[in-house]
Amino acid sequence: MPIYEFQCEDCRRVTSALILKPREESEILCEHCGSSRLRRILSRFAYHKTEAQRLKEFDTRAPRDDSFYKDSRNIGLWAKKRAQELGADLGPQFDEVVERARTGKILEDYGDS
Ligand SMILES: [Zn+2]
Repeated sequence: MPIYEFQCEDCRRVTSALILKPREESEILCEHCGSSRLRRILSRFAYHKTEAQRLKEFDTRAPRDDSFYKDSRNIGLWAKKRAQELGADLGPQFDEVVERARTGKILEDYGDS
C-alpha cells in the first residue's frame, strides 16, 4: 500500500498518509498542527531496507545537532546501536523484523504496487 510519511515544516512532526491518487499528496495537512507545509520523507519501509548499513556506520559518540533528535528514525537507530554496543538482547520480535527486511518479505507485505 502506498503509505507515505510527511514531515511538517512548521512543527517538525511526522504525518503518515495513504496516497491513492498523486493529486491527494498536495492536499495532505499536518495531523498535529494543521499546516499544509509538508515535505515527503522516506517511508519506514524504505528505511528498513538500508538500516543494517546505516547501523553499521552509525557512531553513537559523534556530535549531533538538534535536528538529529527531531527525526524519530534517528532515535530508533541510535537506540538499536547503543543496545548492540551494550550487548543487550533486543528480543525475537526485533530479529523477525530484521529478517523480514533482509529477505525482502516486508516489501511483499507492505510494498507499493
Ligand atoms: Zn505541523
